[in-house]
Amino acid sequence: MKIVEVGPRDGLQNETSLVPTAAKVAFVNALSETGVGEIEVSAFVSSRRVPQLGDAETVFRRLSRKDGVVYSALVPNERGLERAIAACVDKISVFTAVSETFNQKNIHTSVDGSLRRFRPLIRRARTMGLPVRGYVSTAFWCAFEGKIGPDAVVDLVERLVDIGVDEVSISDTIGKATPVEVAALLDCLLPRIAPERVAVHFHDTYGRGVENVLASWAQGIRIFDASVGGLGGCPFAPGATGNVATASVVMALEGKGATVGVDLAKL
Ligand code: MG
Repeated sequence: MKIVEVGPRDGLQNETSLVPTAAKVAFVNALSETGVGEIEVSAFVSSRRVPQLGDAETVFRRLSRKDGVVYSALVPNERGLERAIAACVDKISVFTAVSETFNQKNIHTSVDGSLRRFRPLIRRARTMGLPVRGYVSTAFWCAFEGKIGPDAVVDLVERLVDIGVDEVSISDTIGKATPVEVAALLDCLLPRIAPERVAVHFHDTYGRGVENVLASWAQGIRIFDASVGGLGGCPFAPGATGNVATASVVMALEGKGATVGVDLAKL
């Protein structure tokens, strides 16, 4: 069981005000003590485009790394990767979506274009021994294109695996998925990729984040993205509210008898 805490990146990216670097470092350090297995610390993106994360290098330089915790960062391109390598990140994430329209609005390229962009980047990351996560956004619904079919998700996941992605994070970007839709997608997906390589990333827009976590857990998923306090959303996805809250995920899984290993009081 692994909780991937995405609050410092996915959460703070969506704050309207700039959080001081020292507060971010204290936030990441405190999260390091909770028992979460991985923390997505920041993103090596353009500080013009995402000023909230413009201090990624400094946060990485100043944080106190705890043994056993993976400190990851989102990387959009080769320039971002070189910055991430210089900052000694443990793992990188790349970001694409099943929906063409969402990709055009969010990363200004097509699905094919995103994979072309990732290929050299992933090759370089692998030569550096860096594991690579691939976000698969709009895996259920898209604000622009509506319902997304499981076949298109499976196809994109297989293409990501082909170019060297180690782990995919199946993301319900606008939080509209139902547990039935989650089970239907995982039924199609898990025969094609081992569950150890699949994370799920749910948003609480319609209050279904926890139900969807539990539906995924019942299908064998053991990696859950969550954000402390439910921070986050998506500035490029109209209507998306916060990520499912880490404490809610931990409590729900423990309620099913699972051992999560996260200290709720510290969280
Ligand atoms: Mg999110």
